[in-house]
Amino acid sequence: MAGFENHLHERLRALAQNLWWTWHPEVISIFTDLDPHVWRQVEHNPMAFLNRVTPEVIEERASELVLESRINYAFRRLNEYIEQEKTWGFIHGGNLNSRPVAYYSAEFGLHESMPIYSGGLGILAGDHLKSASDLGVPLVGIGLLYQQGYFCQRLNSEGWQEEDYINLDTRDQPIQPVTDPGGNPVVVRVDTRTTPLLARIWKLLVGRVSLILLDTNVEGNSVEDRELTARLYGGDARLRMRQEILLGIGGSRALKALNIYPGVMHLNEGHSAFAILEEVRRVMEYEQIPLGRALRRVSLHTVFTTHTPVEAGHDRFPPDLVEENLGVFRERMGLSHDEFMALGRVNPNDRGEPFCMTVLALKGSRRANGVSAIHGHVSRMMWNGLWPGRRESEVPIGHITNGVHVLSWLAPQMYQLFQTWLGQDWPTRMVHPDVWEAVEDIDDGELWETHQSLKMRLIRFVRRRLLKQSARLGHEETVKLIDGILDPDVLTIGCARRFATYKRTDLILSQPERLAKLINDADRPIQIIFAGKAHPRDDAGKALMQRIARFSYESAHKLKVAFVEDYDYNVARHLVQGVDVWLNNPRRPLEACGTSGQKVVLNGGLNLSVLDGWWNEAYDGRNGFAIGHGGMHNDQQVQNRRDAEYLYQTLESEVVPLYYHRDSQGIPSAWVARMKHAMMSLGWRFIADRMVKDYAERFYLPAAEATSAETD
Ligand SMILES: *Cc1c(COP(=O)(O)O)cnc(C)c1O
Repeated sequence: MAGFENHLHERLRALAQNLWWTWHPEVISIFTDLDPHVWRQVEHNPMAFLNRVTPEVIEERASELVLESRINYAFRRLNEYIEQEKTWGFIHGGNLNSRPVAYYSAEFGLHESMPIYSGGLGILAGDHLKSASDLGVPLVGIGLLYQQGYFCQRLNSEGWQEEDYINLDTRDQPIQPVTDPGGNPVVVRVDTRTTPLLARIWKLLVGRVSLILLDTNVEGNSVEDRELTARLYGGDARLRMRQEILLGIGGSRALKALNIYPGVMHLNEGHSAFAILEEVRRVMEYEQIPLGRALRRVSLHTVFTTHTPVEAGHDRFPPDLVEENLGVFRERMGLSHDEFMALGRVNPNDRGEPFCMTVLALKGSRRANGVSAIHGHVSRMMWNGLWPGRRESEVPIGHITNGVHVLSWLAPQMYQLFQTWLGQDWPTRMVHPDVWEAVEDIDDGELWETHQSLKMRLIRFVRRRLLKQSARLGHEETVKLIDGILDPDVLTIGCARRFATYKRTDLILSQPERLAKLINDADRPIQIIFAGKAHPRDDAGKALMQRIARFSYESAHKLKVAFVEDYDYNVARHLVQGVDVWLNNPRRPLEACGTSGQKVVLNGGLNLSVLDGWWNEAYDGRNGFAIGHGGMHNDQQVQNRRDAEYLYQTLESEVVPLYYHRDSQGIPSAWVARMKHAMMSLGWRFIADRMVKDYAERFYLPAAEATSAETD
């Protein structure tokens, strides 16, 4: 940080240029106070805000509103944060302090104003960077800059999803182009049998951590390749493969161009596994050693996280596509086509097998993990074929359960409550269970009031969104009723996820009369807020969403069921902070982890979930609700029917009665006890600080030691 920012608008720009602000609500409130209208117009983007409001206006408004001390304080806090020396990482990071972790991911979800993510995987990567920053774990992220993002979702009057694409203006992003000493953009290049791939490099600051983003929208690329990084998960297999070549091989070259020499490589999902090949190639060339030895060498400092038990989530590329795009690279490695393909095959001799990114990642890493205990188990089963002599339990894939970045997901009101009751230093000590024991002492009335005010905030947000949606769709009845839609005194269920069929978001619709009875009960009704996107080419997912959207349009449920379009970071933040209950009913065991329910816990909501992913190891009988007992059935219809039955039963006999049972002050004390128990038993465990520490201690440090041993 330069430190010469004397004017308030310069200090604001310095704040805007480091995504540290995204987890500091006191910085966000400066922008909302300066001009709430513009802030909303620019969709919570401080760079865009500062590019629209002139320095003169800012100085003037700041003095009118007496914002000077708040701006200066935030600016000072950011500088202190950056300069702090004795971080956890500094003390415990050993060799990482000279050679950082390179963390590769195809998406990073850091904030709604930076739309280079689609869902859970990206949000997890973003949370990983933020916690690495907070802990001071030396780490640099590598990803792609998608100038059109994922997509914006609109539903048409039939409830069918339509996709819109935005165009990011790089001037409105907190990114800096990386240039050489002569001021020219640094460009990396990967040759293919057709056109060479060129990419420029951008740098973004996330607290103490840097994120390197590659972008093919440069001169010298073919028209087609200029669009290569336009959209996330947008194209066919060829485009996908070229994106992954850029991420893995281009990413590794970008680090080298920046003189960053990582001691550990962490591949967040298989998309980036080609980075292994680039490192293997380098070792083979420099040290003149054969493939097998080079691969072992690279694997010593490589760790890999797999993220899904769903087959289609593992990229596989046919031989001709591999040859077209990596043939030049393969020749440089001195390998035959079959030798090369073998790196991505479970059975190296099976010439019919495509090249699988997960297989390459598993072959090229020292440690691999699933993202929950149950997912670790499923992954060992899935990939047993790679270790033919071993029993399933001996397959070297462990697990580190995902967690969420607390300060990004915790509502400011709840943060204040924690400051009062848990002690001012709780944020730096939150991985310790004893910190959370103090939740027990929080005044029930105060906790309930805070929760209710967050629920009201959510309801107002949903009404604003519904008003816009309904006006566009011509749903005049909804527009007229808008102020009566959703009631803060009614048990509010949130259900937002990607519309993939295995997530079964429509399970709750499977017995419509029973659901209608729950919704319309005169004394103890429920209301439901849905959100979620389907992949643009997933028609089955879109059909599932359509059933839900249409259900919400029906006049009988208009006041009690809402579908909020365009699920993103912002919608998620409102939902997880305001709901009473978070519903999750995927087909077991296909949910690798799930993290949205963890965000809900921090804010006082309760999970109602199938025993899958993280909930399978989190649920203790009193910290939320379970749907069923963890059963599975080969016949999907049977499993669906059973789980639906459990879902209705749990709602009718446990959730609803507990919620509506009030004490003399109108507080649902047994419910509040459950909220507290959820926070106390889960708050220290399912958070990103714990997760990053696990990765650091179990994966990064041993890998970094191997690196330093080989270079000493
Ligand atoms: C947290 C989050 C997710 C991941 O949640 P799941 O529980 O895995 O569905 C997806 N999308 C957004 C926008 C999120 O904030």
